[in-house]
Amino acid sequence: MQNRREFLKYSSLFGAAAASFSPWAASAIAADGDVVGTTNGGDTYTVSLGSLRADVTPARKIVIPDVDGFKVLKGDFHMHTLFSDGYVMPKDRVAEAVDNGLDVIAITDHIEYRPHFSKIGKWKLTDKQASDYNLWYDDAKPEAEKRELLLVRGTEITKQTMPPGHFNALFASDNNPIAAAVDDWKTMLQVAVDNGAFLLWNHPGWEAPKSGGIEPGAPLRFTDAHEEIYKKGLMHGIEVFNGTQYYPVVPNWCHERNLAMFANSDIHVSEEKQYGLRNTLRPITLVLAKERTVDSVKEAFFAKRTIAWAADLIWGSEELLAKLFKASVTMKSITPGTLEFTNTSSLPVAITVGGSVVSLKQNVKRQVYRAAETSTLTVTNWMTGMDKPLVCKIV
Ligand SMILES: [Zn+2]
Ligand SMILES: [Zn+2]
Repeated sequence: MQNRREFLKYSSLFGAAAASFSPWAASAIAADGDVVGTTNGGDTYTVSLGSLRADVTPARKIVIPDVDGFKVLKGDFHMHTLFSDGYVMPKDRVAEAVDNGLDVIAITDHIEYRPHFSKIGKWKLTDKQASDYNLWYDDAKPEAEKRELLLVRGTEITKQTMPPGHFNALFASDNNPIAAAVDDWKTMLQVAVDNGAFLLWNHPGWEAPKSGGIEPGAPLRFTDAHEEIYKKGLMHGIEVFNGTQYYPVVPNWCHERNLAMFANSDIHVSEEKQYGLRNTLRPITLVLAKERTVDSVKEAFFAKRTIAWAADLIWGSEELLAKLFKASVTMKSITPGTLEFTNTSSLPVAITVGGSVVSLKQNVKRQVYRAAETSTLTVTNWMTGMDKPLVCKIV
């Protein structure tokens, strides 16, 4: 059972089977998920679905072959918890990530905005806790170790003006020196880098006209201030995709400046509420890493070996996407005019060979006819720039 629809189908079959042998006159799902039935005679039976649920909802398995000798790790580097304005605990983010088949996450609670747990928030923290901006990392770490999920220390520098907007500091050795410089965003970015951070410009299409964000529907701008940030070495990547939005121009910006591309959830509510369980449309940043370690993820980030994936779209540099395509899709000539393709990965792939678009489902062979003069194919949903899908040679 791979997905929610199958789960529901299976659940209803189970329900039908149960009804056929059950003497229940009425049944209901109790608050804890157990099915409670009452016989006509008034006796009550309880049937636990606990083990069934575990069987039918395994963690999502995302298959991506190694690329150019690198492992392709699945990550999300922007998420919130009750330690800022999110609605789940850090260890819940760990469990959600494992269920979604991710290898690595960063919890990036806001420095400037902590409405729930703080000295002034709904739930009080001690003075020591309130001035500790590593709390969410420390809280998630034991759960991450237990579940073998890689956990990156992170925080979100959250300014209510654009520029600079919001930046995630990832991999800093300590978030507290960054928070200590809260009154001056330029200093914050510099302190973050001094502490080893990778700086990610979040949601550049942030719509907040009253507080410096852009007008709804207005074009995105790489402002002079952002150019200055970049030139000082205080910007290493940009989100192409955030939550449910994407910004088509960002791959161009990243290409022009050699910046890494990201697709992140920026999730505040529970995963189930935001995307549904194990939703294949949720954003994921692919990381081409030497090893499955936090250090290797960091090395890959600074070497700009990331690919953004959300919904049915993938964004990355031409070089990386060409290598990912080669590793994921096998292509052979059946006859001079017939090509056969097999997508061995879980990635969404749609191609055209001078004709109609063909979707390549995982491990399903597809034959495509081509004219003698056609020497390239276009991967229509893999973007290397704005309006620029990946084009590959036919071998
Ligand atoms: Zn933000
Ligand atoms: Zn955020």
